[in-house]
Amino acid sequence: MEEIMEHIYRIPVPLPGNPLKELNAYLIKGKDRALLIDTGFRQEPCRQALFAGLKELGLAPGEVDILVTHRHSDHAGLAPEAAGEKGTIYVSSVDMPFLDDMTAREESRKGTEQVFISEGFPKEAVDSMWSNNPAWSQAPIESDRYVGLEDGEIVEAGGYRLQALLMPGHTPGQMCFWMEEQQAMFLGDHVLFDITPNITTWEGMSDALGTYMEKLREIRAYDVERPLPGHRKPGDMRARIDQLLAHHAARLEEAYQAVAGHPGAPAYEIAGHMTWKIRASSWADFPLTQKWFAVGECMSHLEHLIAEGRVRREIVDGQRAYFAL
Ligand SMILES: [Zn+2]
Repeated sequence: MEEIMEHIYRIPVPLPGNPLKELNAYLIKGKDRALLIDTGFRQEPCRQALFAGLKELGLAPGEVDILVTHRHSDHAGLAPEAAGEKGTIYVSSVDMPFLDDMTAREESRKGTEQVFISEGFPKEAVDSMWSNNPAWSQAPIESDRYVGLEDGEIVEAGGYRLQALLMPGHTPGQMCFWMEEQQAMFLGDHVLFDITPNITTWEGMSDALGTYMEKLREIRAYDVERPLPGHRKPGDMRARIDQLLAHHAARLEEAYQAVAGHPGAPAYEIAGHMTWKIRASSWADFPLTQKWFAVGECMSHLEHLIAEGRVRREIVDGQRAYFAL
């Protein structure tokens, strides 16, 4: 644990077996109130690291409020346990239903699975993932401590003012938190520095990748001297945003070429014709969870190509099929 700014601590939370390696939980320690930003998965190694960190700062579960940057389980997983019966869990009102409403969460999962199956993802593989994927099995338990945040709203803690900035893309309700006076920003997974944030497709959100890139350009206007990412180390904010934009432009081109070379293929096949930074000898050998992320990422790129009018999608016998224009 390290004090990165006055009364602001970074608590590293390990994510064993996950390519992200580590989550950065941040703790702002005020005189009358402590605010914890993100938590780790609801699993033992995360729980131990997070609560040991809190203890070192003289805090027990139930003595903190929590700010969840977005709905993903590696950020929200332990929020209800950390909040206990008295803490408040702040999260954007867009992502909140997928944390505090178990029915909405379950329906969203089923809807997403259907989409993946219609993209050629094998049904048996999807079924086996339900039990293996930490995103689902290590999601937060039920809690009534959630409070929804709107774009622009201010949360105060330890003498700091954190302004919520809605930055949809990585999830529909991803938020960054801007401390103008300190030129510091909690980024969640909107901008990461040595790993590329995963952008998939979302029900009820058309062209997530297009929105994401638009929001990258929007956040580029802020003078962020101290970026505080949700995973790993920080770096130069504007340089990184430019890199991410260039990365997606190149990936869009690659996805387009894969569609052009394989007319009528679904995303599952197209993803297999794209390059991935994963140690596996072939697409068939990809670990299942990584395949899931790859197909999701491929889909968001295809959706953006459709929005640009470069690709069209047809439904053939209930399966999705893509064609270059
Ligand atoms: Zn995330």
